[in-house]
Amino acid sequence: MELELQGIVLRSIPYGEKDAMVTILTKDGIVGFYARGLLSIASKNAGGCLIYVHSNFLISAKEETLTLRKAELIHSYYNLYESLEIMTSLALISEVILKVVNEDEKDLYVHFLKVLELLEKKQDHLTLISMLLFHIVKISGYGLTLNHCVSCGKTNNIIHLSFKKGGFLCYKCNQENKKEIPIYLKTYAFLDKMNLKDYEGHHFPQEISKKIIKDLLDYLKEKFGISKWNGEDLFISTNFK
Ligand SMILES: [Zn+2]
Repeated sequence: MELELQGIVLRSIPYGEKDAMVTILTKDGIVGFYARGLLSIASKNAGGCLIYVHSNFLISAKEETLTLRKAELIHSYYNLYESLEIMTSLALISEVILKVVNEDEKDLYVHFLKVLELLEKKQDHLTLISMLLFHIVKISGYGLTLNHCVSCGKTNNIIHLSFKKGGFLCYKCNQENKKEIPIYLKTYAFLDKMNLKDYEGHHFPQEISKKIIKDLLDYLKEKFGISKWNGEDLFISTNFK
């Protein structure tokens, strides 16, 4: 049987001398396949399997094994390769996706593609990464309650976001005695309501994006019992200077 898939390359791991295991994100979910000879100089499929490119894949399925027949580039985002900040961000996001998102998740593909498109247009990458990470939290099954107080349901006097409780807390229900700055809470409320079209044209203050990314990485770590994101140190040292 042969499959034709359109997808974004999330990961490519060398396998043996010249082969690779490639993982892509498609509109039907996450798919991994074996790519014979991908790392040899003569490989015709190498360009279509580079990390974060968008390609058409022809894959043959035999029993449980998926093997690449052909990869044809639809669009490369080569200019992103020049930015270490963006590359370490995408590596971290890909790692998070592969660890917390269900393989049959259908909604993530268009979001990732939108982020690549806007990164190429030089929109602020930390804003885009915080938006995408928030979406990943939403589809991970551990979405936060951000349209009212998670404890009493009231919508006014929201002063805190508790990751322990899973959402906003109002003045009365907030026992941690912490008060967050309004723009931080407002940004979360915006993330909660945003659609695909809202990725474009927004730029969060850098400190807010950083705090949100750190929050959400820690939150997912705790929920999924992950002790460390492999890409986090490099992401922080290149982006949180
Ligand atoms: Zn309350």
